[in-house]
Amino acid sequence: MTSNADWRVRSLAHVWQPCTQMQDHASGELPLIPIARADGVWLEDFEGKRYLDAVSSWWTNLWGHRHPAIVAALKHQLDTLDHVIFAGFTHEPAIALAEQLAAKSGLPRCFYTDNGSSAVEAALKMSFHFWLNSGKPQKQRFIALQNSYHGETLGALAVGGPSIYRDTYAPLLLQPIFVPSPDCYTRTPGQSWEDHSRRQFDHLRLVLEQHAHEVCALILEPLVQCAGGMRMYHPLYLTLARQACDEFGVHLIADEIAVGFGRTGSFFACEQAPPAVYGRGAKRGITPDFMCLSKGLTGGTLPLAAVMTREEIYQAFYADYAAYKAFLHSHSYTGNPLACRAGLASLSLFEETNALSANAVLAQLLWAHTAELRTHRHVAEVRQTGLILAVEMVRNVAKREDFPASERRGLRAYRHALEKGVVLRPLGNVLYLMPPYAIGAKEAQKMCEVLCEAVDVATRDPA
Ligand SMILES: *Cc1c(COP(=O)(O)O)cnc(C)c1O
Repeated sequence: MTSNADWRVRSLAHVWQPCTQMQDHASGELPLIPIARADGVWLEDFEGKRYLDAVSSWWTNLWGHRHPAIVAALKHQLDTLDHVIFAGFTHEPAIALAEQLAAKSGLPRCFYTDNGSSAVEAALKMSFHFWLNSGKPQKQRFIALQNSYHGETLGALAVGGPSIYRDTYAPLLLQPIFVPSPDCYTRTPGQSWEDHSRRQFDHLRLVLEQHAHEVCALILEPLVQCAGGMRMYHPLYLTLARQACDEFGVHLIADEIAVGFGRTGSFFACEQAPPAVYGRGAKRGITPDFMCLSKGLTGGTLPLAAVMTREEIYQAFYADYAAYKAFLHSHSYTGNPLACRAGLASLSLFEETNALSANAVLAQLLWAHTAELRTHRHVAEVRQTGLILAVEMVRNVAKREDFPASERRGLRAYRHALEKGVVLRPLGNVLYLMPPYAIGAKEAQKMCEVLCEAVDVATRDPA
């Protein structure tokens, strides 16, 4: 059993893929690709065909696959401590990683979970529970941005916008208050990003004025709504949201699960928020009350997540046992030593490779190599924040008329790119690049060329 076809048959017999209509694979419409091995930015199937991982394996991978420093650290960790219950026990990798994340985020308390959705769940519960412990049990609701995405478990799903993921489960979900997104794709022609995002903030302010008494927290994805189509907004919105949350006594939960760890140009996206008032000593960046981290946290090797939070929030749970104020939330694999070790190895690579400066150069390269798309007759917008570059394909640019979802234009692009050896998984009619930081200049050029071709192929009529 060595051919792709054999593995496909076995896989389809038992494995249910995530976020997938399985018939697409079973019918042959979409090839299910068995991967035998990976190296750097390349994935390789069982017949030796290679695919450039332009989406960083669902936005997790930072340094390429099997980076030697991470592999070595993991091998060593495996010989030392595999896993241990994390209640009543602690260990070096979890401690050292929490120390470093605290220093980077400015949030001293670190609560581990094992995937992004569970980190969001923990943050939502902590915020609610903080207010309960603080004598404000009426604070029970959340504010979320339209088109945001925070994961798939019921709590995380409830505070996410895109109806494609949400509507089916609507009867099971919490009822957050959704406010219009600062997403700059929807700005009026000629309007600046800053002006648009500032105006969209007025909606949030109004909702806070009316509902703050019953609201625990505002949750948002800083700078880029990734799953919602890589929609981007101006960092000023973060500054304004932080100020308003302070003013109205509402927590701010920053979901940096996709955008953290250098993806948007800064280490955390929150660091890009401009000072509220310019002048001497004015500092860039906001500190949220909760920061959710996952995906790139281990450099893309193992599942791990963390909720970082403030000392004051930690203290609201700290009491005599009999006060019943503790946060009784846990996951079996919380603080897994291997995953934490991978996290430490990945953080070291930021220093060693000077990644943020290198990424700035790479980001310019992506922009330069996609110039032709900016005048393409079926591209309404090419937008970029750091190492996320997105292309919005439309039927008619002037009218901003979308291609009908049923035409599955993104899928056409996906299939073309696969043939050419590049993984470009679309989000509806949005194609994007989100490569590992380790991608070389030549590989980046190839990736961009295939993106440009894929847009041509996908937008060509007939569907
Ligand atoms: C991926 C993602 C999540 C969910 O993380 P999982 O590990 O897939 O559960 C939550 N929030 C954002 C912004 C994400 O991109």
